[in-house]
Amino acid sequence: MGPGREFDLVRAMLLRWGEAAQGLGDDGAILDVPAGERLVVSTDSSVEHVHFRREWMSPAEIGYRAATAALSDLAAMAARPLGMLVAISTPVSWLDDIPGVADGVGEAASSQGCPIVGGDLSRSSELVLAVTVLGSAIAPARRSAVVAGDSIYVTGTLGGSALALEALERGESPDPEHWMRFAHPPARIREAQWLAANGAHAMIDISDGLASELGHLAAASGVELRIDAGRIPVVRGSTARGAATSSEEYELIVTSPVALDVAAFEREFGLRLTAIGRAHDADRPAVLAFRDDVRVDLGLGHDHFTS
Ligand SMILES: [Mg+2]
Repeated sequence: MGPGREFDLVRAMLLRWGEAAQGLGDDGAILDVPAGERLVVSTDSSVEHVHFRREWMSPAEIGYRAATAALSDLAAMAARPLGMLVAISTPVSWLDDIPGVADGVGEAASSQGCPIVGGDLSRSSELVLAVTVLGSAIAPARRSAVVAGDSIYVTGTLGGSALALEALERGESPDPEHWMRFAHPPARIREAQWLAANGAHAMIDISDGLASELGHLAAASGVELRIDAGRIPVVRGSTARGAATSSEEYELIVTSPVALDVAAFEREFGLRLTAIGRAHDADRPAVLAFRDDVRVDLGLGHDHFTS
């Protein structure tokens, strides 16, 4: 790399990433996909003023969340990470904070055993972090794999991300537990491996909110999902509806034709795994929520989808 501020910044990032960055130096990254496995690729953009605000999070938290959003999509495919590429488009006003952003990206990648294998740096009018992740799996989990009779499970406890955001919008400090869910959610990569190995065959991660993601599963699989609203795992201070509409949780919804060993999962990961409903045959894809056998609105807006 030659002289200049851009290269200085790249050098600063590589120094901070250390062992987390691997195989850089050529025009492209070379990765080995384990024999018999399939390549899984996903990309995700985080845009200032759309996905985050500078005054709400540290540069490291912004980087961490952007990388986690991408890694969470690998989790949703039950894929193991092979590598991450990070494209940063930055205004001059952000230049001093880019090493901090890189710290957060590096932390998210390292925590999931994902090497950073490439990237790009350019100028723009707003900070944009475009994170591409590559992974592999023998049998990637799909949204379209839900079948009638499947039990529906969700990892973790929902609603914290929305409560933190609401507090910030009111100009208040979020509850620390809610703040951790908003600023520091882990991608459920290892959890997804366990769930797939134990029978889960359809998965999706919660970026838009439980209710919305259930809608995507139902539509992709052509089934009706019946949810017991009383079983939705709710963070302290939230409600079933608050939990169902809380976005960017990065927890997983999985369905399985066999009962999953909830206690074994919780022992392994120190994380809740909750059965919240069941899939049924239907003429039209739908998500229906009940509380004590009475239909309730989970904030989905509508219950039916055109396929
Ligand atoms: Mg997703």
